[in-house]
Amino acid sequence: MEIYIFFGPPGVGKGTQAKKFALKHEFKHISTGELLRQEMRADTELGRTAAQYINSGNLAPDNTVISIIDEQLRNFSDLPGFVFDGFPRTNAQAEALDQIVAREGKIIKAVFRLEAHEPELIQRLLKREKLEGRLDDTEETIKNRLDIYERLTKPVLDHYRAKGCLIEIDGEGTVEEIENRIEQAYTDLKK
Ligand code: AMP
Repeated sequence: MEIYIFFGPPGVGKGTQAKKFALKHEFKHISTGELLRQEMRADTELGRTAAQYINSGNLAPDNTVISIIDEQLRNFSDLPGFVFDGFPRTNAQAEALDQIVAREGKIIKAVFRLEAHEPELIQRLLKREKLEGRLDDTEETIKNRLDIYERLTKPVLDHYRAKGCLIEIDGEGTVEEIENRIEQAYTDLKK
């Protein structure tokens, strides 16, 4: 089984692209953010805990997110591939994922890193607030999320750079343009 990771700051479009990529190649798309929001809607204990972090733009605890991923990989272990969207977001999560991957005999094929300039990210997130009404897309929480990305998430890139599976993708442009860049990188990977 192959694992693909979509990595990048909030608002860069990793959710949109990860979904398209998974659909096209018949992989399972897993967004930890979406799974946490599902728990919040269902008003479970996990959801109530997660809400305190998510709504203020902070990261949910590593253990919570790691156990969600662990469960998903156990439940769907016979599928050909997984697309992670928004996971891992800390070094502790990346290390835990390495252990899970080794246990399950899987491999991390590629980390697609999408980047765009900050003004573009802020504009996209504010647009999403209007369209989707996400409580964590307000101007105040956006600042916090971008700051957390810089401090806690971006350093995870070194982990994958060292493994040689990091692929840089320009995240500016139209959805189709970005989709084509990812597809090209995927084709190159398969050569
Ligand atoms: P997203 O839908 O990926 O933008 O995630 C929304 C929010 O869910 C994030 O701002 C975090 O509060 C939480 N979240 C999602 N994925 C993770 C993760 N891997 N680690 C910690 N918190 C996460």
